[in-house]
Amino acid sequence: MKFGTKVIHAGIAPDATTGAIMTPIFQTSTYAQAAPGQHKGYEYARTQNPTRSVLEKNLAALEEGRYGICFSSGMAAMDSIMKLLHPGDEIISTNDLYGGSYRLMTKIYEKFGIKAHFLNMGDIEAVKARINDKTKLFWIETPTNPMLNIIDIEKTCALARDYGILSCVDNTFASPYLQTPLTMGADMALHSATKYLGGHSDVVHGAIVVKEEKLAEQLYFIQNAAGAVPGPQDCFLVLRGIKTLHLRVERACQNAERIAHFLLGHPKVSKVYFPGLPNHPGHDIAKKQMRHFGAMVSFDLVDNQYAAAEKVLSTTHLFTLAESLGGVESLISHPASMTHASIPREERLKVGLTDSLIRLSVGVEDVEDLIEDLDKALQ
Ligand SMILES: *Cc1c(COP(=O)(O)O)cnc(C)c1O
Repeated sequence: MKFGTKVIHAGIAPDATTGAIMTPIFQTSTYAQAAPGQHKGYEYARTQNPTRSVLEKNLAALEEGRYGICFSSGMAAMDSIMKLLHPGDEIISTNDLYGGSYRLMTKIYEKFGIKAHFLNMGDIEAVKARINDKTKLFWIETPTNPMLNIIDIEKTCALARDYGILSCVDNTFASPYLQTPLTMGADMALHSATKYLGGHSDVVHGAIVVKEEKLAEQLYFIQNAAGAVPGPQDCFLVLRGIKTLHLRVERACQNAERIAHFLLGHPKVSKVYFPGLPNHPGHDIAKKQMRHFGAMVSFDLVDNQYAAAEKVLSTTHLFTLAESLGGVESLISHPASMTHASIPREERLKVGLTDSLIRLSVGVEDVEDLIEDLDKALQ
């Protein structure tokens, strides 16, 4: 099955009892048993829910894995991966990543004795030099947030495998339509389904997809034991969003490419970060591992003061000033004060995340209108 067919059909069949073409929302907490232990595979809704099961199967197919495990948010999914580790274990992570992921590793898990090293994972020699016998997890995000750097998934995951280290790729920015990390050697693909998978800014949800049964069993155990499960209505919304994933992402990527080129020629713009630009340092790797270059664009201003950025951020009309990304509507944000405020300023500046950096999540509107909106705000 090809991708555009999978989003609509993989793991999904009309409801057996009614023929309902849409997966029903099984809004129940428990299930009747004929006699003690005699049930239809469903006992209690933290452990199993039919709406969730359909979504888990669909996500497994989209990521070319075998097991999907759903959670109440992207962070809950990541938290469950962290629970695979033990005190004394170490993580090697990208130094330019989702602020919430940095926060979870440092503010929560450091006190349980887990240490994360943040470095430029695009530099494979630097990654190799950091490995020791305590290293248990590679945390890869590509494209990175908000600098849109590209990490070579195949090379990095091969290195992890050589040393018996687990690897997880946060695939939120790309979506499985653009890249499937499990086919490039990753052990786990993680999603904030809040973003492209849901796609309509109406749900918070997370997921992990894996290939190996043993790892899946551990994660299902944590899902049930810790209990950060999504409600059935949220699973329904994600299933519904996924049906148009390929159409939305295709259009958003086209729009982003046009906008990146527009910004590149703008006199008020000093830098454009977009992997689709031929001079982007990760352009060739992006071309190799992604279908298109994504729909996130970051840029910096010639006037690199916070005040200048604030003016742009509060002047656009179609680009709404908001956190998050991956919805049909275009959003504009200020990483330094919003998504990445939990990362110390010195750390931010090291990766180029200045006070005037602006991040766009390009939606599926008509691109001419989006460009006009940005042009007016920049003027
Ligand atoms: C939003 C996001 C998360 C966290 O997901 P939530 O659904 O908000 O908990 C993790 N990683 C990336 C890259 C994100 O953009």
